[in-house]
Amino acid sequence: MIDLFSDTKTRPTAAMRQAMANAEVGDERAGEDPTVNRLVARCAELLGKEAALYLPSGTMCNEIALAVHCRPGEEVLCDVTAHILGFEGGGPGALAGVMIQPITGTRGIFGAAALKEKLRPDRPYAPRQRLVTVEQTANLGGGAIWPLAALREVADTAHAAGLATHMDGARLFNACVASGIEPADYARGFDSVWIDFAKGLGAPGGAVLAGTRDFIAEAQRWQFRLGGAMRQSGIIAAACAYALDHHVARLAEDHAHARRLAAGIAELAGLRIDVTGVETNLVYFDVIAPGWDAAKLCAALAARGVRMGPMGPRTVRAVTHLDVDRAGIDTALAALREVLGG
Ligand SMILES: *Cc1c(COP(=O)(O)O)cnc(C)c1O
Repeated sequence: MIDLFSDTKTRPTAAMRQAMANAEVGDERAGEDPTVNRLVARCAELLGKEAALYLPSGTMCNEIALAVHCRPGEEVLCDVTAHILGFEGGGPGALAGVMIQPITGTRGIFGAAALKEKLRPDRPYAPRQRLVTVEQTANLGGGAIWPLAALREVADTAHAAGLATHMDGARLFNACVASGIEPADYARGFDSVWIDFAKGLGAPGGAVLAGTRDFIAEAQRWQFRLGGAMRQSGIIAAACAYALDHHVARLAEDHAHARRLAAGIAELAGLRIDVTGVETNLVYFDVIAPGWDAAKLCAALAARGVRMGPMGPRTVRAVTHLDVDRAGIDTALAALREVLGG
């Protein structure tokens, strides 16, 4: 199976499993797991923040960040395609009790002007606005990279209006590898930021949320409240540390594979793609062949051992990662040609 459904489909490599087996562990909940402690210190440094917290998932990082930054009834501004809006089980409403005001950006990215348009006057009848969030890279924006200038402008506008800022860095390293910009530079101006180890970095789980010492202290209370405090989690944290050492620079290969896939798709008459939009490891394209739609195409591909994800009636997403090599990309392209030609 060539599984391009998501970069979460990676399995730990033999070397990563070895690092996990050798991990020094303790009771994380009591602050006694040395592998977790080293990982969070390293991530805080990488992200340019005072402190960091190890959590089971990126979703929990987002949900805790919303809950720490906001009180119930307050409003969060984010792009209309944001993960917190459509993919976290309604957590922002159920856990933080916040309202969300979506901003219609371009490929998941919006500017200071679009943000300013959504700022509300401070009136007793209006929800109090509290937080602006961005995704680096923008997942439903096609893996688009927020330019540094756009991030600065949005963060400055938010802070000037008295709002806090949060960065969902599920694929922050993809942006860093593609642009050559350091994680701390992207995260500057953001009061909280997190990175995911279970996406392209190839670990079996885990994410690290970073911010000020005070923010992280509050986040830790939410970690306990949600049952996200673990015990000998150094076993998984060791996989994350291994990923930081060995799986960051190689994301460039995933990006090259994504471009190769996009170029092949561009040659197929029944598909439509903007190849210039493929900046990282996410490849979105539309099915325009008569009689076909995204679901039907994905089913036909699956029958040939290639998995992609339908993301809309005509839109398909393919994600490159550690477990798909160049030959796998060529197999996927051959399957697309066969399916649409036949
Ligand atoms: C995957 C993802 C998340 C959630 O991360 P999990 O570790 O899967 O919970 C959040 N935001 C974005 C943009 C993602 O792609």
